[in-house]
Amino acid sequence: MIPEIILLKGEEDRLLTNHPWIYNNEIYSDDVAAEAGSIVDVLNSKKKFLGRGFYNPHSKIRVRILTHEKEEINKDFFKKRILSAWNYRKSLGYNDFCRVVFSEADYLPGLIIDKFQDYFSIQTLSFGMEIRKAEIVEIINEIFNAKGIYERNDATVRVLEGLTEQKGFLSDEFQTEIIVKENGLQFYADLAGGQKTGYYFDQRENHAAIEPYVKNAKVLDAFSYTGGFGIHAAHYGASKVISADISKPALDILQKNAKLNGLEKKIETVEANVFEYLRFLKDGNSEFDTVILDPPPFCKNRASLDQAFKGYKEINRRALQLLKKDGYLITCSCSFHMLPEFFMEMLKEAAMNTGKSLQIVENRMQAKDHPVLLGFEESHYLKCIIARVV
Ligand code: SAH
Repeated sequence: MIPEIILLKGEEDRLLTNHPWIYNNEIYSDDVAAEAGSIVDVLNSKKKFLGRGFYNPHSKIRVRILTHEKEEINKDFFKKRILSAWNYRKSLGYNDFCRVVFSEADYLPGLIIDKFQDYFSIQTLSFGMEIRKAEIVEIINEIFNAKGIYERNDATVRVLEGLTEQKGFLSDEFQTEIIVKENGLQFYADLAGGQKTGYYFDQRENHAAIEPYVKNAKVLDAFSYTGGFGIHAAHYGASKVISADISKPALDILQKNAKLNGLEKKIETVEANVFEYLRFLKDGNSEFDTVILDPPPFCKNRASLDQAFKGYKEINRRALQLLKKDGYLITCSCSFHMLPEFFMEMLKEAAMNTGKSLQIVENRMQAKDHPVLLGFEESHYLKCIIARVV
C-alpha cells in the first residue's frame, strides 16, 4: 500500500498546471509513515488521485511528482524515462556532448546526467534520486555502456534535502579531464575539478549565436570561465578578446583551450573581480565593440532578488559605458528568480542610466538539451539577450 498525502483544499492548482512540487504547508495530512525518498501518492482534499512522487520529510519540498498515472515506480520506470530523454536529445542531433537528463523538466526530479562521449557526470539532488543512485548507475551502464561515471554531488542544494555534499567515482577511476567538442571547437573540461558537472552545456547555442556580432570586433568576455564565449568570439573573427574571470584555475584552462584551437594570439586573460575590472576599464577610457556578460547566479532565492537586481544592473550599466555606438551587449542571467521580465526591466534601467538606446536583436534562453517544462518556471533559468547600442 502506497502512503497517501492529502492536500489542503485549493492547494492542487499548481500541480494541475504541471508544477511538480508539493510544499509542506500545502498538505492537510502529513502523518504518513513514509521514509525520505520513498514513493507516496498525492490526493486532493476530496481524495482524488493527482500524482505519485518522491517524499521527503526533511525538505520544504515535501513531494516531487514523478507521474500523474498510477504506475509502478521501479527500475523499469526510470529506465524508460531516461531513454525517452535521451531519444529526444538524439532526435535533435545531440550525441557525444550534451545534457541527457535535466531533472524535473524531464520528469526525473533531482537527476542531472551530462554526457561527455562515453563518460558521464551526474548529480542526484533529491533524496529520492540519491537512494536510487546505484540503480541509476546501472541504467546508464545499460543504455550507454559507459566507460566511466562521476558524481558531482558537491552542490549546496543537497543540504536542503537533508543530504551531504560529496563527489567521486561511481565506476572504475578514469582520467576526468576530457575534451568537449562544441560548434566545431574544442574545450578541456574536468568532470572532477570543473564547476558544476564540469562544463556548461547550456550555453552551447548562445555561444554559436554570437557569430554575427563579433566579426573584427574588440570583445570583452566577462565571467569567462574556461572561455566558452571568448574562444567562440575569436574563432568567429574577433580582432581581440579579453577574457576576465575571478577563478585562476578556470583561466588556466582557458589558455589551454585557446592554444588547443590555435587562437591564443587573439585572447588575453585577466584574473579579476569583474565588478572592479569594469570600473578599471572605464577609468582607462577603454572601448569595446562587443561585451559579453555571463555571471554566476546572483540570487539563489526570492529574498536576495533586490540585491541581485542591483548587481545585474551594475555590471550591465558598466558594460554599456564601455560600448561604442553600434556595438553589441550580450548579457546573460542564470538565476531563475530573475524572471525574464525583471531581466528586461533591469536592462532598460541600465540603458537609461547610461543615456544609451538599445535595440534588442535576440532574446534567447538555454540550449535545447535543457528544455523548459511549461508550468515549472524554475526550469527556465537562463536568459541571454543580445542588444545593439544605437
Ligand atoms: N561564460 C562561461 C560560463 C560562466 S560561469 C561559459 O560560457 O562557459 C560564471 C563564471 O563567473 C565562473 O567562471 C566564475 O568563476 C566567475 N565569477 C564569479 N564571480 C565573479 C566575479 N565577481 N568576477 C569575475 N568572475 C566571477
